[in-house]
Amino acid sequence: MNVRLQIAMVFHLDKCIGCHTCSIACKNVWTDRKGAEYMWWNNVETKPGTGYPTKWEDQEKYQGGWVRDASGKLRLRGSTKGGTFANIFHQPNLPSIDDYYEPFTYRYQDLFDSPEGADQPTARPVSMITGKPIDIQAGPNWDDDLGGSPVYAENDPNLDKVDAAEREALFQLQRMTFFYLPRICNHCLNPSCVAACPSGAIYKRGEDGIVLINQDVCRGWRFCVTACPYKKTYYNWSTGKSEKCILCFPRLETGQAPACFHSCVGRIRYLGGLLYDADRIAEAAAVDDEHLVDSQRGIILDPFDPAVIAGARANGLNADSIEACQASPVYRYVKLWKIALPLHPEFRTMPMLFYVPPLMPVMASVENGTYDSSKAGLFGSVEELRLPVDYLASLFTAGNGGKVRYALKKQLAVRTYRRMRTAGDVDPATVEAMATEVEADMEQLEAIYRLTSLPTQNERYVIPPSHREEAEQMLREDVLSAKGEAGFGSLQGPRRGL
Ligand code: SF4
Ligand code: SF4
Repeated sequence: MNVRLQIAMVFHLDKCIGCHTCSIACKNVWTDRKGAEYMWWNNVETKPGTGYPTKWEDQEKYQGGWVRDASGKLRLRGSTKGGTFANIFHQPNLPSIDDYYEPFTYRYQDLFDSPEGADQPTARPVSMITGKPIDIQAGPNWDDDLGGSPVYAENDPNLDKVDAAEREALFQLQRMTFFYLPRICNHCLNPSCVAACPSGAIYKRGEDGIVLINQDVCRGWRFCVTACPYKKTYYNWSTGKSEKCILCFPRLETGQAPACFHSCVGRIRYLGGLLYDADRIAEAAAVDDEHLVDSQRGIILDPFDPAVIAGARANGLNADSIEACQASPVYRYVKLWKIALPLHPEFRTMPMLFYVPPLMPVMASVENGTYDSSKAGLFGSVEELRLPVDYLASLFTAGNGGKVRYALKKQLAVRTYRRMRTAGDVDPATVEAMATEVEADMEQLEAIYRLTSLPTQNERYVIPPSHREEAEQMLREDVLSAKGEAGFGSLQGPRRGL
């Protein structure tokens, strides 16, 4: 057992209101500069929809992530060693600027300079690449709130997994059925971006698993852009280097949540440490699709287990880091309650951002002028939900509908439990039966309710204290050899001057 610490995340999709505050917070801090105009390290997509870059989930088109060969071994889908050198000057599977969008702004000065006339002046959109006026054709989340649907929504690759009848029903309901999917880099345990980089510029930090690109080493080959199946590395055309989400590590190191987390209006985001067994990554990433969710959960270790604590201490983890993992909200959602699921586990990168799938508002109908919510049970059954289980399974469980049903049923049990507590019109035996079906009890339902609905900021973000000296110890035997002008724990001294 090789115990490591990973900073991991949960996004609760029923709580996202699609306000895009997270995207703007990130844009203002990190990508509001030349060459990064088109980048949204954090973006929010409407689902069903095609996302950003458009159809990013279609790996036939983009060739990202890993595939399992006939012998059960993993290989990068988009590159081989020979292929890497053959294609080093040409990447055939990169998204084009049209797949992202041509970044634009508005000529706001027009609002002030327009001559007096009968009409209101308007600010013309101008391309941020050419500076010339453009007709906007697309943008990140162009199908936001169904603008353009079903034209865009129908092209969602996950709908291929939904049968024709359900698909038709979905589009009848489409006008009122959608949800938001906020996305950032998943800081994966088995990152294909790292594996694909011919320069060795991308690395996973030993102390917390954050995936970073060393800008001094990157040569702009862009293999990471192809290899990331989530399309969360980007090429900066001005610097000639690739860039990605850094999980605001300078903020984390001072105990603050990343900007997109801190600003999240819906309070959907949770961040905390997970202890995992690094020796089992390769084996866990290579199981068949059906078992991917279980294998990913399986390598997450119990932070209260004395053997795990001893392993963590032996690997140089401090006691306060282990305590943070014990208080991690991510551990609860992912491992204990099993209601947070990885996005597209079949890409086999083992993403460390998990999603609580949306239960959506209660289904009801108006019949003969009477509002009727009396489906099977008070809130209906999982099979009657607005989004087909197959659709959510394509997104979150590599097609394993059982795992999605479990997560949704547990959330339904929480809802029914709260109804019992507040309105009192549900019999406790009904709640008990619903809880038992998903291996829960009243105490667990109450805990899920509290962490979902009433958490304080300190409960949502349990940030393991920063120990840069630990990182150094993990990397080198002789710690004193790295004691330079930046002190212990910094591999590179600060660069001064221009
Ligand atoms: S999401 Fe993409 S960029 Fe981020 S670690 Fe995973 S493979 Fe790399
Ligand atoms: S800030 Fe939060 S609620 Fe708003 S879109 Fe982003 S993730 Fe959703």
